Amino acid sequence: MNKTYDYAVIGAGIIGMSTAYYLSEEGIKVAVIDKAHMGSGSTGRCIAGIRQQFSTPTSIGMMKESISLFSRMEDEFGFSVEFAQSGYLLLAHSEELLNTFKSNIEIQKKEGVNVSLLSPDEARSVVPKLNTEGLLGAAYCPDDGQAYPFMILKGYRDKIEEKKGDFYLYNPVVDIQKNQNFLLALEDGTSIEANKVLLSAGPWTKDLCQKIGLDLPFYPERHEAVITERIPKIIGPMLVDYRKDGCYFQQLLNGHVIGCYTPDPNVPGTRTDSSLGFIIEMAKRMVRLVPELEKAAILRHWAGSYTMTPDGNPIADQTPIDNLYVASGMSGHGFMFGPGLCRHLAHYMIHDEWDTDFSEFSLSRSFESKESLK
Ligand SMILES: Cc1cc2nc3c(=O)[nH]c(=O)nc-3n(C[C@H](O)[C@H](O)[C@H](O)COP(=O)(O)OP(=O)(O)OC[C@H]3O[C@@H](n4cnc5c(N)ncnc54)[C@H](O)[C@@H]3O)c2cc1C
Repeated sequence: MNKTYDYAVIGAGIIGMSTAYYLSEEGIKVAVIDKAHMGSGSTGRCIAGIRQQFSTPTSIGMMKESISLFSRMEDEFGFSVEFAQSGYLLLAHSEELLNTFKSNIEIQKKEGVNVSLLSPDEARSVVPKLNTEGLLGAAYCPDDGQAYPFMILKGYRDKIEEKKGDFYLYNPVVDIQKNQNFLLALEDGTSIEANKVLLSAGPWTKDLCQKIGLDLPFYPERHEAVITERIPKIIGPMLVDYRKDGCYFQQLLNGHVIGCYTPDPNVPGTRTDSSLGFIIEMAKRMVRLVPELEKAAILRHWAGSYTMTPDGNPIADQTPIDNLYVASGMSGHGFMFGPGLCRHLAHYMIHDEWDTDFSEFSLSRSFESKESLK
C-alpha cells in the first residue's frame, strides 16, 4: 500500500501527538506512525507532573503556555484529562540548592509565575505530613500540577481523526529515504510518502536519525517508577527531594501515589524491566519524606526512559536535511513540555519560521549551559 501525505509524524507519544494535533488544527491531513500503541514509549510511563519552576525564561514561558493549554483540554476534547493544579514543592536540604531556588524564583517571578520560597514550617503547612528534618527551605508553586497522559493522547487522536488524519499503529518505520519527498517504509510493507517529516520517537529518535545518516546527541536513560494503591489524600503537591538519595512523588487525583527517583549512576539504554531493588529503595525514600506512606501498599512498578541531551534541554528543530524535523531529548520533562513546545513546532513546520524564540532548543546551540532544576 502506498499513501501520500503532506506531513508525517513518527512517534505517538506526547511530542508526536501534540505536534500532529496542532498541524491538523491548521487543516493539515497528517499521518501518525508508531511501532506500538499511543503512549507505549515514555509518555505512558511518566509520573504525570507539570511544573513551571525552571531556570530560563524560555522554559518558564513555554511551561506557562503548556499549563494554560492543559487547562483548556477538557473543553476542547469534551472529557476530563484529570488536569489539576495540585502544585509542586521543591525541597532544599543544602544551602547551595536553597540559593539556586532563590535565584530561580527571581527569574520565575519576573516571568509572572506564582512561586514563593517557604521556610520548613511553611512547607509543613502545605504538606502537614512532611518530615522536615534537615530541610532548609522549599520552592512552592501552587499552580503547577498533574494530568493523565492517556486521556490527553486520546483527545488528540479524536481531534486529528476529525481532521482526516490517519494512524499507523503497531507498525514501525524500518527505513527512511529522501528523493524529492520522504519515503517511509513501514514494517507491514506500507510505504508513506510525505513532504515534511517529524522524528519524535522519544528514546529511539537517535536510532531513527541514523536510518537517514544523522547522528544527533540523544542519550536514553532507564528510570523506574512506582504507584501505590489509592489512599486518602495526604499529599497535595509533587514533592521533589533533590538529595543524592532523594526521590519525587505526588498523589494523583484518584488517590494513587506515583513516583520515581533518578538512579546514581545513571543507567543508559531503553530497558523497561523493573527491579525489586528499586521498590525497596523507593519505599524507604518515600517513607523518609512522608512517614505516613508506610501504610500505603505498592500496586505496580515499571520502567521507562528519559531521553537526555548534553545540556538537559530538548532539541526541537529542522535537521540539516531539508523538511526533516526532530523533537526529542526532553530530558525527563516531555510530558509537561508537549503542548507548549509543539504548538510552536507545528507553526515552524508549516511556516518555516518560529513564532517564538526557541533558540535554546536549536540543534546548532553550544550545549554548554545546563538547566539547573532537573
Ligand atoms: C519514570 C518516568 C517519569 C517521568 N515523569 C515525568 C513527569 O512527571 N513530567 C514530565 O513532563 N515528564 C516525565 N517523564 C518524561 C516524559 O515521559 C518524556 O519526556 C515524554 O513522554 C517524551 O515523549 P516523546 O513523545 O518524546 O516520547 P515517547 O513517549 O517515548 O514516544 C515516542 C514514540 O515513538 C515510537 N517509536 C519509536 N521508534 C519508532 C519507529 N521506528 N517507528 C515508529 N514509531 C516509533 C515509540 O513506540 C513511542 O510511542 C518521565 C519519564 C519516565 C520514564
